Amino acid sequence: MSLQILSERPVSEEDPLDLMDEIEALKKEKDASILAHFYVDGEIQDIADFTGDSLKLARDATKVTTSTIVFAGVHFMGESAKIMNPEKRVLIPDMLAGCSLADSCPPDQLAAFQEQLRAQGRDFQTVAYINTSAAVKSLVDWIVTSGNAREIIDRVPADKEILFVPDQHLGRYLIEVTGRKMILWPGSCMVHEVFSIQDLIRIKKRTPGCVIMAHPECPQNILELTDVVGGTEKMRQHVMSVEKPTTFLVATEAAMIHPLQKAAPQHTYIPVPGITASTGETCACNRCPHMSRNTLQKVRDCLKNGGPEIEWKDYFQQARAVLDKSLLK
Ligand code: SF4
Repeated sequence: MSLQILSERPVSEEDPLDLMDEIEALKKEKDASILAHFYVDGEIQDIADFTGDSLKLARDATKVTTSTIVFAGVHFMGESAKIMNPEKRVLIPDMLAGCSLADSCPPDQLAAFQEQLRAQGRDFQTVAYINTSAAVKSLVDWIVTSGNAREIIDRVPADKEILFVPDQHLGRYLIEVTGRKMILWPGSCMVHEVFSIQDLIRIKKRTPGCVIMAHPECPQNILELTDVVGGTEKMRQHVMSVEKPTTFLVATEAAMIHPLQKAAPQHTYIPVPGITASTGETCACNRCPHMSRNTLQKVRDCLKNGGPEIEWKDYFQQARAVLDKSLLK
């Protein structure tokens, strides 16, 4: 199956296989492990020691035995790895790999809104999706991922209101599955936000018998058409549980096709495009521009140069207490 993804990234002149060999040698020389999110390019996932979604990688980060971690993902994930491993050196291939969702909830605005709610006498706990900066994590009561959100929300006392940040779509989905009332922060992910319902309906019609899988960060109209709603790890577990070769339409970051194909190669996976042009070509909107900043060259360079590095900040300590009780206990 071929993926039709238009990318503006310059094509590397270095041979990927040579780069992979170089990275393997540098990992030993520098006593480093590589953690790679499911949304980075498949070739980086192939040289990683750990791959997974945010929840799995946050847990994996505590099992790393080397003195250096290279986190191929985005900035907030590198922060979480550092928070869990203060004594280790945590490198990220590109310091500019941010996250539109994390950026949609700046810590000063969250603190001001919490203050406003308190001034109104509202009795609430703040639950944050893991896609938030460490500064935001230090301001909240709980951290959730798409994999454990339901279980954590059940731990919020029933007499408390819930302020859920930053993803309004995931929040709306959680209101539906948990029945809890929530105050939703109006944030969203630029990748999941652009999935077009018309395109999804068109591909579904063209693909009889297909199964639609979508990430809960997708808007409600996409989730209403979806057969399997779940984060990336749930998607992976689901395709492995289906023996009969099936065609899956996958509405999440397009790099996710790589781990799905590896886990259950009997199926066909079609990434749902963001916007389809009249020519039938897809835009690259289902590739996260931040995740795409991770390349084999940058992984090699950051190992070689020992940077960019995530530095410890004072508020990491409080963020750690919240991450610990939410993800590890
Ligand atoms: S896919 Fe969306 S939520 Fe994930 S890192 Fe990119 S911008 Fe952030």
